[in-house]
Amino acid sequence: MSLSQVACSIAESPTLRLNEEARLLRERGEPVIHLGIGEPKNKAPISAILSSAAKLSSGDVKYTPTDGLPSLKKAIIRYTEDNYNRIVSPYNIIVSEGAKQSLFNIIFTLCNPQDEVIMIAPYWVSYPEIVRMVGAIPVIVTPEDGGFVPCYEEIERAVSSYTKAIIVNSPNNPSGAVYPDELVAKLVELCESKGIYLICDDIYQKLVFDGLVPSAAYKFTIKDVENTKVIVVNGVSKLYGMTGFRIGWVVAPRHIVEVMTNVQSQTTTCVSPVMQAAAEGALTGMQSIVESLRLSIQNNRDVLMQELRTFTDVRCTRPGGTFYALPDFRAYIRKSVAKDAVELSDFLLKRSLVVTIPGSEFGMEGHLRLSYAGSVKDITEGVERMKWALDPNAPSEIYIGDRKLVRDWL
Ligand code: PMP
Repeated sequence: MSLSQVACSIAESPTLRLNEEARLLRERGEPVIHLGIGEPKNKAPISAILSSAAKLSSGDVKYTPTDGLPSLKKAIIRYTEDNYNRIVSPYNIIVSEGAKQSLFNIIFTLCNPQDEVIMIAPYWVSYPEIVRMVGAIPVIVTPEDGGFVPCYEEIERAVSSYTKAIIVNSPNNPSGAVYPDELVAKLVELCESKGIYLICDDIYQKLVFDGLVPSAAYKFTIKDVENTKVIVVNGVSKLYGMTGFRIGWVVAPRHIVEVMTNVQSQTTTCVSPVMQAAAEGALTGMQSIVESLRLSIQNNRDVLMQELRTFTDVRCTRPGGTFYALPDFRAYIRKSVAKDAVELSDFLLKRSLVVTIPGSEFGMEGHLRLSYAGSVKDITEGVERMKWALDPNAPSEIYIGDRKLVRDWL
């Protein structure tokens, strides 16, 4: 019997596939360095652990309201006030199983089949697939200058009578780019004048470096939360390094939240109260963990940039936030070894046991996404191995684990 065409057309998440490959290699005892990973190594904040442990040990673990526990919503209201200077009500909030489900719920709620959703390359891998899942059409805007920040006009040109929403992710996964205020302000104006939704995926909002302040779209609208076209997605995955707790949320006009809540009530019912308690604990506990995470990742970014500078033909735009960089490896793709980023990433995994994510998965062929969320040792050793595999100027011998390897392919 044939399966659903839509379901069969959905690509596997490349990042999750490569995570699994790395896990299997490690299980076999291979000294893999994972520069693909999308999560910091820190432990969850103690306030999150205590609060979820208290909920669990109460034994009172039941369904919660579909849109989230009132006490967690209260913490999200405070977060929204502190970080966006916006007072919202509990009716403007829905809590989901991670920002990924939040995004799915938004797209499912907004889009009819054939509606268009604009996204900017490089984009997070899941956006096009989520849009396709509901029968809508991803419209990708690729900056013509080859950079990571589009011109406003490029986005404006992509708007059609079918455009339902524009997704903005700044700080950006995979490039680490932080979009300038001016661009975000113009997008808010465009969306509000044309009745298009501006979906702001702010999941990396606090992971910014060098004193940068990411632009919050709310700042550029005078409309209140009920009337604005701005929809904000956030969560604890990156903010506190709590990826496995699976908590994300949306702040949106009430009528949208109501429909999203109906959708969620027919899919996952609600998020586990144990995990909601953890998120509440994190949001109401000491916030110094966010700053220490940010500082250690900023340091990792500096180490990565320094290492990449000694890689003969690699160019890399300095990330302003997140824990990713998207260096340009086109010189090595042209020279031999691989015909595209997917092959290059495979080559690096096989030869040097370093996991990278091909930029083509994010709409940027010729690039590799490198994560610097891990340890400094992983970054330095990982780049050294990549140099050994690709750069004729690098020494031809290397130790990987306790094996001495000699390069004989350049
Ligand atoms: N948006 C972006 C840009 C992301 O990078 C991720 C996670 N990699 C998500 C959303 C989803 O996060 P969550 O773990 O909360 O589902």
